[in-house]
Amino acid sequence: MMAPPPLGLIAELTHRCPLSCPYCSNPLELERASTELDTETWRRVLDQASAIGILQIHFTGGEPLVRRDLPELVRHASALGLYTNIITSGVTLDDRAMAALTSAGVDHIQLSFQDSDAAGNDMIGDSRGAFAKKQAAAARIRQAGLPLTVNFVVHRENVARVPQMIDMAEALHAERTEIAHVQYYGWGLVNRAALLPTRAQLEAATEAVEAARLRLAGRMVIDYVVPDYHAARPKACMGGWAQRFINISPSGRAMPCHAAETLPGFVFPSVRETTLSDIWHKADAFLRFRGTAWMREPCRSCDRREIDWGGCRCQAFALLGDLTATDPACELSPDHGVMQAAVRESGPGAYVFRRIEKARVT
Ligand code: SF4
Ligand code: SF4
Repeated sequence: MMAPPPLGLIAELTHRCPLSCPYCSNPLELERASTELDTETWRRVLDQASAIGILQIHFTGGEPLVRRDLPELVRHASALGLYTNIITSGVTLDDRAMAALTSAGVDHIQLSFQDSDAAGNDMIGDSRGAFAKKQAAAARIRQAGLPLTVNFVVHRENVARVPQMIDMAEALHAERTEIAHVQYYGWGLVNRAALLPTRAQLEAATEAVEAARLRLAGRMVIDYVVPDYHAARPKACMGGWAQRFINISPSGRAMPCHAAETLPGFVFPSVRETTLSDIWHKADAFLRFRGTAWMREPCRSCDRREIDWGGCRCQAFALLGDLTATDPACELSPDHGVMQAAVRESGPGAYVFRRIEKARVT
């Protein structure tokens, strides 16, 4: 039976970014500007996405606004009837960029903040003045009449400010706020010891979110993403391997998720040579962990196997060196102890900031 089409395409237009967050989900080996797909190839990919039934395009990076052709790509996707979302740090979203995106027909912008505190925000992004630029970007998005989602990434150093983050999102008139604990892949895994919150910190943040949800019901939606390291069950990573999304790297490699390139033994097809239809329906990299046939115990006979799909393959490989193992975030995994050990070993420390050459607009 043919797999149903993916819901969304995640278009990582570039790995360039003016910020340097030490929890960035981009790979440690960042792709250079010279390897990025050109405009024509992205237009072809969007045509193919529409043809196979994809509904949403998420333009992300890195910082997607460093690509001068972003408005053109948004316009092309809109003309195809695709819902367009831009995930941005906002620091380059000036009046001109906003006008270009609005006239191109963008549907939604998701604006990331690093903190509700200006100094904390600018420190963790390693970019002085970023907070003020983000505030201005939020105002521009609202003035353009677009829905606004404000996204905060939380960790040991800023998690106590979750109440202030929610207040700030309310003051910015966001429709939706996402409070997302760091996910420990890529740079986040490198900096895990310094970023992991304690259980007490996590519980206080969860209580703050629940109280705010009650207070703001009907006015602002709050999404909340917890860290696996204090969890009893894993998340359904990407809604299940190759079940809902295709992720395309700046150079055109198609993957079921942005972290999959860390897995050994895969050849990820390139959109330069392979159609999205063939990638989704025929590529080994997409078929290998789709569904449940690959599972071992305890997942194989577990009644949650079609709910969380055994958790995250990238996390199983990163922490256990075994990409077919049950995600150790699950209490039923014989290796669950590695998560608890990581929590025990965490504590304040220095960060390794994400580095690539400073973003240039092309
Ligand atoms: S997490 Fe930070 S460094 Fe990474 S793309 Fe987002 S803003 Fe840039
Ligand atoms: S055993 Fe596997 S399927 Fe069951 S809850 Fe744990 S990770 Fe999910």
